[in-house]
Amino acid sequence: MRHGEADRVVTVRSAREAEAVVAHAAARSIPVRVHTTGHAHAAQRPPGDALLVRTAIQEPVTIDEDRLMARAPAGALWREVVTKAARHGLAAVHPAAPAVGVVGYLTRGGVGAHGRARGLASNTVSAFDVVGPDALTRRVDADTDADLLDALRGGGGGFGVVTAVEFGLFPLRSVVTGAAYWPLENAHQLLTLWRDWAVDAPRQATTSVRVLSGEAVPWTEDPVVCVTGAVLGGSSAMGDAEDLLGPLRAVATPLRDTWRSDGPAAPLFAAEHPVGPARTVGDHLLLDEIGRDGVAEFLRVLGEGSGSPLPVAELHHLGGALAERAPAGGLLDHLDAGFAYTAFGATADAASAEHLAVVRRALSPWDVGTTVPSMVASRTQPQGHLDRRRAALAAEVRARVDPDGVFAGDVAPVTPGSPG
Ligand SMILES: Cc1cc2nc3c(=O)[nH]c(=O)nc-3n(C[C@H](O)[C@H](O)[C@H](O)COP(=O)(O)OP(=O)(O)OC[C@H]3O[C@@H](n4cnc5c(N)ncnc54)[C@H](O)[C@@H]3O)c2cc1C
Repeated sequence: MRHGEADRVVTVRSAREAEAVVAHAAARSIPVRVHTTGHAHAAQRPPGDALLVRTAIQEPVTIDEDRLMARAPAGALWREVVTKAARHGLAAVHPAAPAVGVVGYLTRGGVGAHGRARGLASNTVSAFDVVGPDALTRRVDADTDADLLDALRGGGGGFGVVTAVEFGLFPLRSVVTGAAYWPLENAHQLLTLWRDWAVDAPRQATTSVRVLSGEAVPWTEDPVVCVTGAVLGGSSAMGDAEDLLGPLRAVATPLRDTWRSDGPAAPLFAAEHPVGPARTVGDHLLLDEIGRDGVAEFLRVLGEGSGSPLPVAELHHLGGALAERAPAGGLLDHLDAGFAYTAFGATADAASAEHLAVVRRALSPWDVGTTVPSMVASRTQPQGHLDRRRAALAAEVRARVDPDGVFAGDVAPVTPGSPG
């Protein structure tokens, strides 16, 4: 294991190392925090005096073609899982960004590139290996501890150090995917068309619109509007994608258009997320059906002439399987919302923070009041991702598996019942 920053950060490279670190901390009553990439650090409490365990477990990602399952060590990024699964003609419910950590995404909901067809990504998890506060590794699945398995899937964190995760895959030979970009001056027509199409869009299509500028689009100096996503469905996929893209392309010729039929790994890269610095300031809301009024408000505060300093603002289309309860799913198993809004500032400057508040106010009429933990971008934002009953179930499991609160700092902030 490697120590750093005054011995308060430890990188563990095996489950045995994770056990040793937890034993060391527990013996000295030192609270333990856990992360993989640290991408979501702005949404978590600062570690303070805790020992931060960074998981970089050195095991290969394995694909079981017959059982349609993958096993990934904590530390694996989606790039590795998706490219390996694709060699077997398989896909996961992965995000649209290769550098996202597998464990952080799968424990916190996970709105995937195939979300409307396949549901929340955490529902696909069947087992975790977890080091508890007693420094022992346990396999957690439906037979060994069904309540903990449920809580680990969207329950708000603070259950131990996950060292590996097993989750389902699905067969996929080809997919229509990409991103098309236009000048921001076309945004009103494009977003209105996208919103109208989204009302009856096939669940095989998962798309989002993004207003991008600065470092988010290094190939142009001007802000752009982007329509990106993925459409499943084999031979019907191109026709379904054309139903959306044809009218959009008729508004104006895109500045750049990468939509095409491609292999199963392609949706991971389609949104062309820059591998930039960690996100430092951002916001997230789940929204009701936004209607044309919602589109107009979104663009009033983020479109041409809005003065927005935010390099990324996105509306992600939900519904389909994302809106359906999953009988074998986790504590957070579906989303009662039509769209997810996320936005990020380049730096934690006052202008970005102020503008995020402006956008939040503008979208508040459509705010359903809940969140997806994987998209939460600020530690001050109320989570609201679990109803009262499910929040109580998560708290019960936490009290059982971690009675002394060794991992209490990892509970998503502003979750009902979480430490202050
Ligand atoms: C470019 C980009 C694109 C994204 N796109 C999407 C998207 O399409 N859909 C979506 O839903 N989200 C998306 N996200 C958000 C992403 O899913 C979350 O930030 C997720 O938490 C990242 O996981 P991580 O392990 O990389 O982050 P980390 O910051 O390392 O982990 C986040 C939290 O997960 C928990 N955790 C991590 N590792 C462990 C472990 N080994 N044991 C126990 N707990 C652990 C901890 O509570 C930790 O604080 C995106 C993020 C980025 C940066």
